[in-house]
Amino acid sequence: MTKIPMTTPLVEMDGDEMTRIIWRMIKEHLITPFVDLKTVYYDLGLVSRDETDDEITMEAAEATKKYGVAVKCATITPNKARQKEYDLKKLYKSPNATIRAALDGTVFRGPIMVKGIEPYVRTWKKPIMMARHAYGDVYKNAEIKVGGPGKAEIVFTEINGVEHRRLICDFEGGGIVQGIHNTDQSIENFARTCFEYALAQKMDLWFSTKDTISKIYDGNFKEIFQRIYDEEYKDKYEAAGITYFYTLIDDAVARAIRSEGGFVWALKNYDGDVMSDMMATSFGSLAMMTSTLVSPTGAYEFEAAHGTVQRHYYKYLEGQPTSTNSVATIFAWSGALNKRGEMDGNKELSEFAGKLEKATINTIESGKMTGDLAGITTLENVEKLGTEEFILAVRQELEKLL
Ligand code: NAP
Ligand code: MG
Repeated sequence: MTKIPMTTPLVEMDGDEMTRIIWRMIKEHLITPFVDLKTVYYDLGLVSRDETDDEITMEAAEATKKYGVAVKCATITPNKARQKEYDLKKLYKSPNATIRAALDGTVFRGPIMVKGIEPYVRTWKKPIMMARHAYGDVYKNAEIKVGGPGKAEIVFTEINGVEHRRLICDFEGGGIVQGIHNTDQSIENFARTCFEYALAQKMDLWFSTKDTISKIYDGNFKEIFQRIYDEEYKDKYEAAGITYFYTLIDDAVARAIRSEGGFVWALKNYDGDVMSDMMATSFGSLAMMTSTLVSPTGAYEFEAAHGTVQRHYYKYLEGQPTSTNSVATIFAWSGALNKRGEMDGNKELSEFAGKLEKATINTIESGKMTGDLAGITTLENVEKLGTEEFILAVRQELEKLL
């Protein structure tokens, strides 16, 4: 069999621990036997980040802007314990945060739905896609631990020296203060990316903030979305038979639970972080969720939403059997290959990506799955497979489809 050719390389970002092991298995068993894989490789594993003073992460982000499509493995965000474990020079920032800030993107997350893994919410029949703003707010904050009595103020100094001041708190004792920001440019990019995405998917778009409490900050998000909708999308949405709907975040949560699904839900950075983990778990598992970062210039980064599955990695290192779910990482690869195919007019590559996804779903629906799913499935006669065994079972299904 001749391998499917590629014209433009994917930006490949390798990662850490169990997902690094899975990464190699997916390439070996599911991709390189069928595709003449071209990638520009960046090792974002913690050792390599430390060796390069984290330069490698910025280089990978720049390459994503240049080539347009990246696929990323889960990576460790170091804390004190990790610093000791890996003897790090310093506590590096989360690679995801670095890449999101560089691309100024929106993260879209959606469930991978299969028969036999039923959502915990009985009414959900269709996927709910989360669109998380990936810039600013609490992720780019300035914080002070207040040691005792004193005055906290917020000051904005215009370029001509004019000052705007607001009192935050007259502290009588210790406490905490935090300053956060966002920019109109980034919010506009976020809004347009969401309007475009929902239109392309022919799904309604919901947006929610807490503008009744945060009248200026969240109010600004609401106004920008409404203005862009009225000026640029109203006609297109009406023609497509879809709606744009704004409501308060708490109302949106209640409505989402009662809904059938089938919409895109745009959320501010923190709301999106929290709600997308809840959504993924409610749809079955964090390992059954796609995650795509879309930049306003049209660059795409595909990743899994879960972490490096540290506990399984330590078992793996001890030579014990593991049953780690590789579905989200497989879908990161298929998403990237499909997008590369679309951009390059390489139909064969996009079709291969579709078959890889179908093979993965067929494998689970035939009763072969990893332990996390075996524990919650409604299917009978389930075979619980090990990490590599599952990937090999997907390969068998894939060969049937090719
Ligand atoms: P995690 O890797 O997501 O794993 C937490 C637990 O969830 C696991 O112990 C496992 O439960 C279950 N799980 C997650 N993914 C699974 C999969 N693919 N298959 C089967 N079970 C799965 O989170 P963590 O242990 O809190 O974090 C580990 C490291 O990941 C941290 O250093 C963190 O910085 C990093 N992280 C990276 C990303 C990213 O790069 N996108 C995101 C989040 C966290 P059981 O142990 O009960 O089986
Ligand atoms: Mg999170």
